Amino acid sequence: MDYSVLAYYVLHPFDDPKEERDRHEKFLRTLDSKGRIYIASQGVNAQLSLNNRDVEAYLSFLEKDERYKEADVKIHPSSEHAFHKLSVKLRKELVAINQEVDLTKRGAHISPKEWREAMEKGDPNTIVLDVRNNYESCVGYFEGAIRPDIETFREFPAFAKELSSKIDPSKTRVLMYCTGGIRCELYSPLLKDLGFKEILQLKGGVIRYGLEEGEAHWRGKLFVFDDRLVIPISKENKETITLCRFCQTSADTYYNCANMDCNGLMLACPACVEKERGCCQESCKSGRVRSIETKISCPKPFRKLSFDEKQKL
Ligand SMILES: [Zn+2]
Ligand SMILES: [Zn+2]
Repeated sequence: MDYSVLAYYVLHPFDDPKEERDRHEKFLRTLDSKGRIYIASQGVNAQLSLNNRDVEAYLSFLEKDERYKEADVKIHPSSEHAFHKLSVKLRKELVAINQEVDLTKRGAHISPKEWREAMEKGDPNTIVLDVRNNYESCVGYFEGAIRPDIETFREFPAFAKELSSKIDPSKTRVLMYCTGGIRCELYSPLLKDLGFKEILQLKGGVIRYGLEEGEAHWRGKLFVFDDRLVIPISKENKETITLCRFCQTSADTYYNCANMDCNGLMLACPACVEKERGCCQESCKSGRVRSIETKISCPKPFRKLSFDEKQKL
């Protein structure tokens, strides 16, 4: 494992995000790095892979800067880069929900250990809320979690509103989690505005939980927004809970449909991807279809991500 995949965020005001974008990118260009770093006036959200020899240099780059003091950098080993290229971008919002969020109203953070204990207590007035999209939560989730059937970040506010009409928010304690923690930071104020009094956010998200508590109370694997797409949360984590859409055997690898106009996400096994020429359905086999050779060996970037990236914020 010669590479490391790093994920962190900071919510700290950046007065001149453009200056920070330039500075950050300039430094990363001196390293063997690839990834996606978003910089906004509200903070930074970063996912990147580094050659192991450069990890320390990058961590000390962050440590030297007060604004990154709160960064909880989660690190996974990897045999290769988890991104195609390096992009350091300015964003209006770190999580694209198209609304102002009052970050002073965030929920309380609880550690992975506290999270596990809270789950083991099993309190009838507590809900476990997965705030990720449906294509993420279908490959892995915490036992008993409410999993919204949403496809983009933008749909979360409407989901939250509906949830608050179905259960009494003033009597419900919410245990909230996402991949790395940042979505909880931005969604918890929305829930507070809807009347939820007690919100507990899993600090560092499922990534940190897997590193510290292993797969306790977790089912399946973890969806991530990089070339790996689906990863185990810990060394022991091997469970697959989804099926190949064609042959119904166990499969948790995502592919994009080879039809460029469809490009839809599909869970499939390698044999069926080959047999179906990389297409998600019969009608996709005609038209603009990519060759599938590269697809089978490395299932690569996918629609949801490029869709979100394309959004002009
Ligand atoms: Zn199959
Ligand atoms: Zn298709």
